[in-house]
Amino acid sequence: MSQNSIKAWAAASAGDELKPFEYDPGPLAPEQVEIEVTHCGLCHSDLSMLDNEWGVSQYPLVPGHEAVGRVVALGDAAQDKGLSIGQAVGVGWLSGSCMHCNSCLSGDHNLCADNEVTIAGRYGGFADRLRAHWAWAIPLPESLDMASAGPLFCGGVTVFNPIVELDIKPTDRVGVVGIGGLGHLALQFLNAWGCDVTAFTSSEAKREEAMSLGAHHVVTSTDKASLKAVRESLDFILVTANASLDWRQFINALGPKGKLHFVGAVLEPIPVSVFDLLGKQRSVSASPVGSPARLRQMLDFCARHGIEAQVEPFPMSQVNRAVAHLKSGKARYRVVLENT
Ligand SMILES: [Zn+2]
Ligand SMILES: [Zn+2]
Repeated sequence: MSQNSIKAWAAASAGDELKPFEYDPGPLAPEQVEIEVTHCGLCHSDLSMLDNEWGVSQYPLVPGHEAVGRVVALGDAAQDKGLSIGQAVGVGWLSGSCMHCNSCLSGDHNLCADNEVTIAGRYGGFADRLRAHWAWAIPLPESLDMASAGPLFCGGVTVFNPIVELDIKPTDRVGVVGIGGLGHLALQFLNAWGCDVTAFTSSEAKREEAMSLGAHHVVTSTDKASLKAVRESLDFILVTANASLDWRQFINALGPKGKLHFVGAVLEPIPVSVFDLLGKQRSVSASPVGSPARLRQMLDFCARHGIEAQVEPFPMSQVNRAVAHLKSGKARYRVVLENT
């Protein structure tokens, strides 16, 4: 291995433990920047990719797509793009896009058909260094803490993006399904946005926590009576859970023109009756992570409102323990690995 080699943690095949793994990244491409990773969040999508749940994983697989660190190198064409050596930046689910398709030219880089996924077909952020296209290395506002900022780059922007895309208004009554890595950020965002926020949780034990994160009301989604009480009352429901639930009950909780929006990767098909949508002009939709501009907008919003992820730190060397902790469902709310 050359001096240039990157030290990472990789799984050799589906379901394997992560082991130390070193690779030579080759010369830095002109448009790329290299960052020294200080922190990297652990997202449910890392678990899905490690276990090849989506059938697209390539091994050895280095997970990690909520990376925060400092710029240590800039490619020839990345010198004058607003980034400087030593600057704190973050890299999320995407680390590149073509920059010339209609989506990219419209500012929807996150919808580019030719985008680069940080942990698919390349190596991710559970490493000492990581590379990304300059446009996808997003500067971190100074008031945000590097130790807790990582989860904003995937989980955070995933729930922030639809608030802007679907034009959610401060006068709206909204719901968040699932109070985990994504949901705990969605509650904070929607509260700061000015909405009346209802948290739907399957665990009554999360009631107090949901209120402290910004929910004005909490509905236990397994309790038919409390679900009935919110019938036809909400303008927007954001689903951050990735389990199959009784979706009809949530559709019926929507008022006229209400939107049921998915950001959790629910694998099972969702049965939808046209009649449940048609009469009240309701809709069902979904979206992925956000564009670079949306990421910047979200970070600015976090800085302004003091929004941050609640994180549980683990040293990078304890990555397998961290994975087990997230799998156990006990993470409150996001596990972040630290390079020491
Ligand atoms: Zn993620
Ligand atoms: Zn493109």
